[in-house]
Amino acid sequence: MEPDVFIALGSNQGDRELNLLRAVAEIGKIPGSRITAMSGFYDTDPVGPVPQENFLNAVLRLETALSPLQLLGELQRIETAVFHRNRTVRWGPRPMDLDILFYGNLVVTDENLALPHPRLQERRFVLVPLAEIAPDFDHPLLHKSVTALLASLPATERVTKI
Ligand code: ADP
Ligand code: MG
Repeated sequence: MEPDVFIALGSNQGDRELNLLRAVAEIGKIPGSRITAMSGFYDTDPVGPVPQENFLNAVLRLETALSPLQLLGELQRIETAVFHRNRTVRWGPRPMDLDILFYGNLVVTDENLALPHPRLQERRFVLVPLAEIAPDFDHPLLHKSVTALLASLPATERVTKI
């Protein structure tokens, strides 16, 4: 059986809602892959050093026959080819950011891929939509459920379901 993969989507440039819908459609077309759950869309305060517009965020669950690195390659192809993302400012505004949160219980520490995503436990904009579709999923390194991770995070940035 294929492991459950969770992908975070975020957009803060252009028509954010249309961008998320488009990204979902593109992810659904990835060979050997099928979307099996989808959170709502959340309007979220930007986090980090760069002042910028609010994001629209969501999380989906995927079943895939691709390896983690093959999947990352497909997601980066969508960011670049479909959304014309340029990578000048790290943590800057972007029409689409696609991050792999979990690939089942797999732990990876590759130069280009870290799994679980190393910052997911600090991000309300990830944990709130993730908790909607995977509240009981256990973090393979922290050994806490998504619900427990969310409960131990201060409610600083606003994350509002649209
Ligand atoms: P961020 O998502 O942290 O704002 P980027 O989207 O620009 O930044 O990604 C920077 C790099 O992060 C990518 O080139 C990718 O190789 C790497 N990366 C490491 N782990 C992951 C992951 N789990 N999901 C997506 N990208 C990852
Ligand atoms: Mg990213």
